[in-house]
Amino acid sequence: MLVGRRHILGLSLGALGSAQPALAASVGMAGLTTEGRAARLSLMLEGPLSWHWRALAAPQRLVLALPSVAWQGPARLGPAGPVSAGRFDPAAAELVLNLARPALPRRLPGPPGRPMVEIAPASTEAFAAATRREGPLAQGSAPALPLVVIDPGHGGHDPGAIGRRGTEEKRLTLTAAQALRRKLQEGGKCRVVLTRERDEFISLADRVAFARTREAALLISLHADSAPGAKGASVYTLAETASDPLSEALARRENNADLAGGLSLPSVPPEVQAILLSLMRQETRGDAARFAGAAVRELTRTVAILPKPRREADFIVLKAPEVPSVLVEMGFLSDPGDEAALRKPEHRALIAASLARAVEAWLTSSRAIAHG
Ligand SMILES: [Zn+2]
Repeated sequence: MLVGRRHILGLSLGALGSAQPALAASVGMAGLTTEGRAARLSLMLEGPLSWHWRALAAPQRLVLALPSVAWQGPARLGPAGPVSAGRFDPAAAELVLNLARPALPRRLPGPPGRPMVEIAPASTEAFAAATRREGPLAQGSAPALPLVVIDPGHGGHDPGAIGRRGTEEKRLTLTAAQALRRKLQEGGKCRVVLTRERDEFISLADRVAFARTREAALLISLHADSAPGAKGASVYTLAETASDPLSEALARRENNADLAGGLSLPSVPPEVQAILLSLMRQETRGDAARFAGAAVRELTRTVAILPKPRREADFIVLKAPEVPSVLVEMGFLSDPGDEAALRKPEHRALIAASLARAVEAWLTSSRAIAHG
Protein backbone atom coordinates (compact mmCIF):
# COMPACT_ATOMS: atom_id res chain seq x y z
CA MET A 1 0.00 0.00 0.00
CA LEU A 2 2.90 2.31 0.75
CA VAL A 3 4.14 1.83 -2.79
CA GLY A 4 0.70 2.59 -4.18
CA ARG A 5 0.46 5.76 -2.18
CA ARG A 6 3.85 7.01 -3.40
CA HIS A 7 2.62 6.45 -6.93
CA ILE A 8 -0.40 8.59 -6.32
CA LEU A 9 1.90 11.02 -4.59
CA GLY A 10 4.25 11.11 -7.54
CA LEU A 11 1.39 12.49 -9.59
CA SER A 12 0.13 14.93 -7.05
CA LEU A 13 3.25 16.09 -5.22
CA GLY A 14 4.13 18.53 -7.96
CA ALA A 15 0.84 20.25 -7.36
CA LEU A 16 1.44 20.15 -3.62
CA GLY A 17 4.81 21.75 -4.08
CA SER A 18 6.55 19.37 -1.69
CA ALA A 19 10.33 19.07 -1.78
CA GLN A 20 11.89 15.81 -2.91
CA PRO A 21 13.51 14.15 0.11
CA ALA A 22 17.19 13.37 0.23
CA LEU A 23 17.52 9.77 1.35
CA ALA A 24 20.84 9.58 3.16
CA ALA A 25 22.38 6.22 3.88
CA SER A 26 23.99 5.71 7.24
CA VAL A 27 25.57 3.11 9.48
CA GLY A 28 23.73 3.48 12.77
CA MET A 29 25.73 0.96 14.77
CA ALA A 30 28.78 -1.20 14.20
CA GLY A 31 30.35 -3.94 16.31
CA LEU A 32 33.32 -6.27 15.97
CA THR A 33 33.39 -9.34 18.22
CA THR A 34 35.54 -12.46 18.50
CA GLU A 35 33.78 -15.67 17.43
CA GLY A 36 36.14 -18.64 17.88
CA ARG A 37 39.12 -18.04 15.57
CA ALA A 38 37.22 -15.50 13.50
CA ALA A 39 35.87 -11.98 14.04
CA ARG A 40 32.28 -11.03 13.40
CA LEU A 41 31.40 -7.61 12.05
CA SER A 42 27.80 -6.52 12.48
CA LEU A 43 26.41 -3.34 11.01
CA MET A 44 23.09 -1.61 11.26
CA LEU A 45 22.52 0.03 7.92
CA GLU A 46 19.98 2.67 7.24
CA GLY A 47 19.91 2.37 3.49
CA PRO A 48 19.70 2.49 0.63
CA LEU A 49 23.35 1.76 0.05
CA SER A 50 25.74 -0.77 -1.43
CA TRP A 51 29.11 -1.91 -0.23
CA HIS A 52 32.06 -3.98 -1.35
CA TRP A 53 35.21 -5.49 0.13
CA ARG A 54 38.78 -5.59 -1.09
CA ALA A 55 41.99 -7.03 0.33
CA LEU A 56 45.29 -5.12 0.46
CA ALA A 57 48.81 -6.35 1.19
CA ALA A 58 51.75 -4.78 3.11
CA PRO A 59 50.33 -4.31 5.66
CA GLN A 60 47.55 -6.88 5.35
CA ARG A 61 44.18 -5.13 5.43
CA LEU A 62 40.57 -5.72 4.55
CA VAL A 63 38.74 -2.61 3.36
CA LEU A 64 34.98 -2.26 3.36
CA ALA A 65 33.92 0.56 1.04
CA LEU A 66 30.63 2.20 2.02
CA PRO A 67 30.23 4.93 -0.61
CA SER A 68 28.52 8.13 0.55
CA VAL A 69 27.52 6.77 3.93
CA ALA A 70 27.16 8.73 7.15
CA TRP A 71 29.01 6.68 9.78
CA GLN A 72 27.49 6.85 13.26
CA GLY A 73 29.28 3.78 14.59
CA PRO A 74 32.41 3.95 16.77
CA ALA A 75 35.52 5.49 15.16
CA ARG A 76 37.59 2.47 16.22
CA LEU A 77 36.75 -1.24 16.32
CA GLY A 78 38.54 -4.32 17.62
CA PRO A 79 40.85 -6.01 18.20
CA ALA A 80 38.88 -9.21 17.58
CA GLY A 81 39.98 -12.54 16.08
CA PRO A 82 42.41 -11.95 13.19
CA VAL A 83 41.66 -8.19 13.21
CA SER A 84 44.26 -6.22 15.15
CA ALA A 85 42.47 -2.88 14.77
CA GLY A 86 39.64 -1.35 12.79
CA ARG A 87 38.87 2.26 12.04
CA PHE A 88 36.46 4.16 9.85
CA ASP A 89 38.05 6.64 7.49
CA PRO A 90 35.35 9.27 6.86
CA ALA A 91 37.23 10.94 3.97
CA ALA A 92 37.38 7.71 1.96
CA ALA A 93 34.09 6.34 3.41
CA GLU A 94 35.90 3.09 4.18
CA LEU A 95 36.13 0.80 7.15
CA VAL A 96 39.73 -0.40 7.29
CA LEU A 97 40.50 -3.59 9.23
CA ASN A 98 44.18 -4.20 9.90
CA LEU A 99 44.95 -7.91 10.10
CA ALA A 100 47.27 -9.69 12.50
CA ARG A 101 47.14 -12.73 10.17
CA PRO A 102 45.54 -13.48 6.77
CA ALA A 103 41.73 -13.48 6.82
CA LEU A 104 38.87 -13.03 4.35
CA PRO A 105 35.29 -11.74 4.69
CA ARG A 106 32.28 -14.03 4.33
CA ARG A 107 28.69 -12.79 4.48
CA LEU A 108 26.51 -14.48 7.12
CA PRO A 109 22.74 -14.72 6.86
CA GLY A 110 21.01 -11.91 8.72
CA PRO A 111 17.91 -9.75 8.63
CA PRO A 112 17.70 -7.01 5.95
CA GLY A 113 19.57 -3.88 6.91
CA ARG A 114 21.69 -5.76 9.45
CA PRO A 115 24.44 -7.51 7.52
CA MET A 116 26.84 -9.70 9.47
CA VAL A 117 30.21 -10.59 8.05
CA GLU A 118 32.59 -13.20 9.35
CA ILE A 119 36.28 -12.31 9.05
CA ALA A 120 37.70 -15.85 8.99
CA PRO A 121 41.34 -16.97 8.96
CA ALA A 122 42.60 -17.77 5.47
CA SER A 123 45.79 -19.23 4.05
CA THR A 124 48.58 -16.87 2.98
CA GLU A 125 48.00 -18.03 -0.63
CA ALA A 126 44.24 -17.36 -0.52
CA PHE A 127 44.82 -13.89 0.91
CA ALA A 128 47.51 -13.12 -1.68
CA ALA A 129 45.13 -14.22 -4.44
CA ALA A 130 42.43 -11.95 -3.00
CA THR A 131 44.75 -8.92 -3.10
CA ARG A 132 45.42 -9.58 -6.81
CA ARG A 133 41.74 -9.82 -7.70
CA GLU A 134 40.42 -7.25 -10.16
CA GLY A 135 36.86 -6.86 -8.90
CA PRO A 136 35.60 -6.64 -5.32
CA LEU A 137 35.88 -9.69 -3.03
CA ALA A 138 32.33 -9.55 -1.86
CA GLN A 139 29.60 -7.02 -2.26
CA GLY A 140 26.04 -6.39 -1.30
CA SER A 141 23.41 -3.78 -0.80
CA ALA A 142 20.85 -2.83 1.78
CA PRO A 143 17.36 -1.74 0.88
CA ALA A 144 15.94 1.29 2.64
CA LEU A 145 14.07 0.20 5.75
CA PRO A 146 10.79 2.02 6.37
CA LEU A 147 11.17 5.18 8.42
CA VAL A 148 9.18 5.75 11.60
CA VAL A 149 9.06 9.34 12.82
CA ILE A 150 8.46 9.74 16.55
CA ASP A 151 7.21 13.15 17.54
CA PRO A 152 7.73 14.13 21.19
CA GLY A 153 4.86 16.55 21.81
CA HIS A 154 5.47 20.20 22.86
CA GLY A 155 8.93 21.63 23.73
CA GLY A 156 10.69 24.94 24.32
CA HIS A 157 8.35 27.70 25.47
CA ASP A 158 5.43 25.25 25.21
CA PRO A 159 5.68 22.88 28.20
CA GLY A 160 2.39 21.11 27.40
CA ALA A 161 0.45 19.88 30.42
CA ILE A 162 2.00 20.21 33.88
CA GLY A 163 1.15 17.65 36.57
CA ARG A 164 0.44 18.37 40.22
CA ARG A 165 3.98 17.34 41.11
CA GLY A 166 5.35 19.69 38.45
CA THR A 167 5.97 17.05 35.75
CA GLU A 168 6.18 18.77 32.37
CA GLU A 169 4.61 16.98 29.41
CA LYS A 170 7.38 18.18 27.06
CA ARG A 171 10.06 16.36 29.11
CA LEU A 172 8.01 13.20 29.48
CA THR A 173 7.30 12.99 25.76
CA LEU A 174 11.00 13.34 24.90
CA THR A 175 12.19 10.60 27.29
CA ALA A 176 9.34 8.33 26.15
CA ALA A 177 10.26 8.97 22.50
CA GLN A 178 13.88 8.07 23.22
CA ALA A 179 12.78 4.84 24.92
CA LEU A 180 10.59 3.96 21.94
CA ARG A 181 13.45 4.67 19.53
CA ARG A 182 15.74 2.31 21.48
CA LYS A 183 13.11 -0.46 21.35
CA LEU A 184 12.54 -0.03 17.62
CA GLN A 185 16.27 0.06 16.88
CA GLU A 186 16.74 -3.18 18.83
CA GLY A 187 14.08 -4.76 16.64
CA GLY A 188 15.97 -3.63 13.51
CA LYS A 189 12.85 -3.59 11.30
CA CYS A 190 12.74 0.15 10.68
CA ARG A 191 14.74 3.35 10.79
CA VAL A 192 13.72 5.83 13.46
CA VAL A 193 14.05 9.57 13.72
CA LEU A 194 12.69 12.02 16.28
CA THR A 195 11.20 15.38 15.29
CA ARG A 196 13.16 16.91 18.15
CA GLU A 197 16.14 15.72 20.18
CA ARG A 198 16.18 18.64 22.59
CA ASP A 199 13.87 20.90 24.54
CA GLU A 200 12.94 23.15 21.63
CA PHE A 201 9.77 24.52 20.12
CA ILE A 202 8.70 23.09 16.78
CA SER A 203 5.45 24.16 15.17
CA LEU A 204 2.85 21.51 14.40
CA ALA A 205 3.13 22.28 10.69
CA ASP A 206 6.90 21.73 10.85
CA ARG A 207 6.40 18.38 12.59
CA VAL A 208 4.10 17.32 9.75
CA ALA A 209 6.55 18.64 7.14
CA PHE A 210 9.39 16.78 8.90
CA ALA A 211 7.64 13.43 8.37
CA ARG A 212 6.52 14.28 4.82
CA THR A 213 9.89 15.38 3.43
CA ARG A 214 11.50 12.22 4.82
CA GLU A 215 8.79 10.02 3.26
CA ALA A 216 8.01 8.51 6.65
CA ALA A 217 6.04 5.26 6.71
CA LEU A 218 4.47 6.26 10.03
CA LEU A 219 4.28 9.27 12.38
CA ILE A 220 3.69 8.68 16.09
CA SER A 221 3.10 11.81 18.15
CA LEU A 222 3.54 11.22 21.89
CA HIS A 223 1.62 13.19 24.51
CA ALA A 224 0.46 13.11 28.14
CA ASP A 225 -2.06 15.92 28.28
CA SER A 226 -4.46 17.17 30.85
CA ALA A 227 -8.21 16.40 30.76
CA PRO A 228 -10.44 16.55 33.82
CA GLY A 229 -11.41 13.09 35.09
CA ALA A 230 -9.51 11.23 32.33
CA LYS A 231 -6.90 8.58 33.12
CA GLY A 232 -5.09 5.84 31.21
CA ALA A 233 -3.57 5.58 27.73
CA SER A 234 -5.48 6.28 24.50
CA VAL A 235 -4.76 6.50 20.76
CA TYR A 236 -6.11 9.11 18.31
CA THR A 237 -6.38 9.28 14.56
CA LEU A 238 -7.52 12.15 12.37
CA ALA A 239 -11.17 12.96 11.74
CA GLU A 240 -12.80 16.29 10.96
CA THR A 241 -15.47 15.48 13.53
CA ALA A 242 -14.23 14.35 16.94
CA SER A 243 -15.45 10.99 18.28
CA ASP A 244 -16.33 12.55 21.67
CA PRO A 245 -16.07 15.82 23.64
CA LEU A 246 -12.83 14.80 25.39
CA SER A 247 -11.07 14.16 22.04
CA GLU A 248 -12.41 17.41 20.67
CA ALA A 249 -11.10 19.37 23.66
CA LEU A 250 -7.71 17.65 23.40
CA ALA A 251 -7.41 18.51 19.71
CA ARG A 252 -8.42 22.11 20.33
CA ARG A 253 -5.78 22.50 23.03
CA GLU A 254 -3.07 20.75 21.00
CA ASN A 255 -3.83 22.80 17.91
CA ASN A 256 -3.59 25.99 19.97
CA ALA A 257 -0.02 25.07 20.83
CA ASP A 258 0.81 26.13 17.31
CA LEU A 259 0.14 29.83 16.93
CA ALA A 260 1.43 29.72 13.37
CA GLY A 261 -1.79 27.94 12.41
CA GLY A 262 -2.46 24.74 10.55
CA LEU A 263 -0.87 23.01 7.65
CA SER A 264 -1.53 24.98 4.53
CA LEU A 265 -1.80 22.65 1.57
CA PRO A 266 -1.63 24.63 -1.64
CA SER A 267 -4.91 24.47 -3.52
CA VAL A 268 -5.10 21.82 -6.21
CA PRO A 269 -7.43 23.21 -8.84
CA PRO A 270 -7.52 20.39 -11.43
CA GLU A 271 -10.25 17.96 -10.56
CA VAL A 272 -8.09 14.95 -11.17
CA GLN A 273 -5.53 16.12 -8.62
CA ALA A 274 -8.26 16.55 -6.05
CA ILE A 275 -9.51 13.03 -6.65
CA LEU A 276 -6.01 11.59 -6.36
CA LEU A 277 -5.40 13.48 -3.17
CA SER A 278 -8.66 12.25 -1.72
CA LEU A 279 -7.81 8.64 -2.62
CA MET A 280 -4.42 9.07 -1.02
CA ARG A 281 -5.95 10.49 2.16
CA GLN A 282 -8.38 7.59 2.34
CA GLU A 283 -5.62 5.04 2.06
CA THR A 284 -3.46 6.90 4.58
CA ARG A 285 -6.30 7.00 7.10
CA GLY A 286 -6.90 3.29 6.65
CA ASP A 287 -3.25 2.59 7.41
CA ALA A 288 -3.31 4.93 10.43
CA ALA A 289 -6.45 3.20 11.73
CA ARG A 290 -4.77 -0.21 11.43
CA PHE A 291 -1.80 1.04 13.43
CA ALA A 292 -4.03 2.68 16.04
CA GLY A 293 -5.86 -0.64 16.46
CA ALA A 294 -2.58 -2.51 16.94
CA ALA A 295 -1.34 0.13 19.41
CA VAL A 296 -4.51 -0.10 21.51
CA ARG A 297 -4.30 -3.91 21.55
CA GLU A 298 -0.70 -3.83 22.78
CA LEU A 299 -1.23 -1.02 25.32
CA THR A 300 -4.31 -2.77 26.73
CA ARG A 301 -2.13 -5.76 27.60
CA THR A 302 0.46 -3.78 29.53
CA VAL A 303 -0.84 -0.50 31.00
CA ALA A 304 -4.05 1.09 32.29
CA ILE A 305 -6.10 2.54 29.46
CA LEU A 306 -8.83 5.14 29.07
CA PRO A 307 -12.34 3.70 28.50
CA LYS A 308 -12.91 3.57 24.70
CA PRO A 309 -9.17 4.07 24.11
CA ARG A 310 -9.43 4.34 20.32
CA ARG A 311 -10.58 7.88 19.49
CA GLU A 312 -10.61 10.45 16.70
CA ALA A 313 -10.23 14.21 16.49
CA ASP A 314 -9.04 16.99 14.22
CA PHE A 315 -5.38 17.16 15.33
CA ILE A 316 -3.19 19.33 13.07
CA VAL A 317 -0.15 17.13 13.68
CA LEU A 318 -2.00 14.18 12.09
CA LYS A 319 -2.77 15.96 8.81
CA ALA A 320 -0.05 14.71 6.46
CA PRO A 321 -2.07 13.41 3.51
CA GLU A 322 0.33 10.57 2.68
CA VAL A 323 1.89 9.68 6.07
CA PRO A 324 -0.26 7.50 8.36
CA SER A 325 -0.23 9.45 11.63
CA VAL A 326 -1.42 8.71 15.15
CA LEU A 327 -1.32 10.59 18.41
CA VAL A 328 -0.78 8.57 21.58
CA GLU A 329 -1.84 9.98 24.92
CA MET A 330 0.34 7.85 27.21
CA GLY A 331 -1.82 8.93 30.12
CA PHE A 332 -3.02 12.22 31.58
CA LEU A 333 -0.78 14.43 33.70
CA SER A 334 -3.94 15.89 35.25
CA ASP A 335 -4.46 12.51 36.94
CA PRO A 336 -2.16 12.03 39.96
CA GLY A 337 -2.03 8.25 39.41
CA ASP A 338 -1.06 8.66 35.75
CA GLU A 339 1.49 11.33 36.66
CA ALA A 340 3.13 9.05 39.24
CA ALA A 341 3.22 6.16 36.75
CA LEU A 342 4.58 8.25 33.85
CA ARG A 343 7.40 9.57 36.04
CA LYS A 344 8.72 6.00 36.35
CA PRO A 345 11.15 4.85 33.63
CA GLU A 346 9.78 1.28 34.01
CA HIS A 347 6.31 2.47 33.11
CA ARG A 348 7.59 4.41 30.10
CA ALA A 349 9.54 1.30 29.07
CA LEU A 350 6.28 -0.70 29.10
CA ILE A 351 4.63 1.87 26.85
CA ALA A 352 7.66 1.91 24.54
CA ALA A 353 7.69 -1.90 24.30
CA SER A 354 3.94 -2.00 23.55
CA LEU A 355 4.19 0.64 20.84
CA ALA A 356 7.28 -1.02 19.33
CA ARG A 357 5.40 -4.34 19.09
CA ALA A 358 2.49 -2.51 17.44
CA VAL A 359 4.85 -0.82 14.93
CA GLU A 360 6.48 -4.12 14.01
CA ALA A 361 3.16 -5.92 13.60
CA TRP A 362 1.88 -3.02 11.51
CA LEU A 363 4.97 -2.96 9.28
CA THR A 364 4.65 -6.70 8.70
CA SER A 365 0.97 -6.41 7.79
CA SER A 366 1.64 -3.37 5.55
CA ARG A 367 4.23 -5.39 3.66
CA ALA A 368 1.77 -8.26 3.36
CA ILE A 369 -0.86 -5.90 1.93
CA ALA A 370 1.67 -4.31 -0.45
CA HIS A 371 2.72 -7.72 -1.78
CA GLY A 372 -0.74 -9.30 -1.63
ZN1 LIG B 1 0.18 17.31 24.49
